[in-house]
Amino acid sequence: MSTPEPNPISGIHHITAMAGDPQRNLDFYIQCLGQRLVKTTVNFDDPGTYHFYFADATGSPGTVLTFFPWPHARRGRAGTGEANAVAYTVPSASLDAWEERLRDFGITPGERQTRFGEPVLPFQDPDGLRVELAGVDDPPTVDHWQAGPVPESMALRGFHSTTLLVAATGPSAALLADYFGFEEVGSEGSRTRFAAPGSGAGRAVDLVQVPNQGRGHLGAGSIHHIAFRARDDADQRAWQARLLAAGLNVTDVRDRQYFHSIYFREPGGVLYEIATDGPGFLTDEPAAALGTSLKLPPWLEPRRAEIEARLPAITRPGEAAA
Ligand code: ZN
Repeated sequence: MSTPEPNPISGIHHITAMAGDPQRNLDFYIQCLGQRLVKTTVNFDDPGTYHFYFADATGSPGTVLTFFPWPHARRGRAGTGEANAVAYTVPSASLDAWEERLRDFGITPGERQTRFGEPVLPFQDPDGLRVELAGVDDPPTVDHWQAGPVPESMALRGFHSTTLLVAATGPSAALLADYFGFEEVGSEGSRTRFAAPGSGAGRAVDLVQVPNQGRGHLGAGSIHHIAFRARDDADQRAWQARLLAAGLNVTDVRDRQYFHSIYFREPGGVLYEIATDGPGFLTDEPAAALGTSLKLPPWLEPRRAEIEARLPAITRPGEAAA
């Protein structure tokens, strides 16, 4: 029996990271970065922990940064086998305004850099996660959150890229180029950039070779995994078959309610996911209400009272304290 060829990967679907205090995480991504909380749910594998999804107004693939916040989590330690930066695209003319906005929120940005000809403003979020704003002259459009606190002229335009730390570039590069269909854009020092064809959000992955750094340890401020896009369930099954045939240890399909997921470690040790574009975040609440109440998947709904009692109290900006 022959397996259909999967479609090339069109880019990043979402990125999942770890945080400490849930309230601080909510406040920063909503009020400072102007991302909309498009879903408030729990970690389906550990329902005593929230799972927050921050994105554009509707949770378009390529804009979605998700967090598992553990109130007393220890900080992670950067190292190989993990992603260590999330880069968002912003209009290049907005970088000065971002520098000022970050300072207004108590964040001291790092020094501005130039990477592959583009200006990059790095900073750390309140948990030490490395976030970068990449200035692009003609950035992709996303579904701007009109009711949010950041004007459209400077708003984040979805992911620009992510950076993976690896002991050796070769094996990770081969997966991106030979399987995902990414093109090698170029190299600068130890950094090599790969990008999916097209012009949408979240198309680039940078590999940074750090042979002597040692493995990273997950904790608050660490990136847990990078999810890439599959068009639909059939495309995902084709990817699963192709990756299994390549000798990678790929999981079964997991129902994540807003998408379906398979997971595997890429050759450099980074946890990858391939997630379907659908059903999306409008599957269990209307656009106007996204993120405003705790959503549970059908199989956890019978445990709602117990789960709600265990979760720390949070206040979404604009909502009165409970
Ligand atoms: Zn994921």
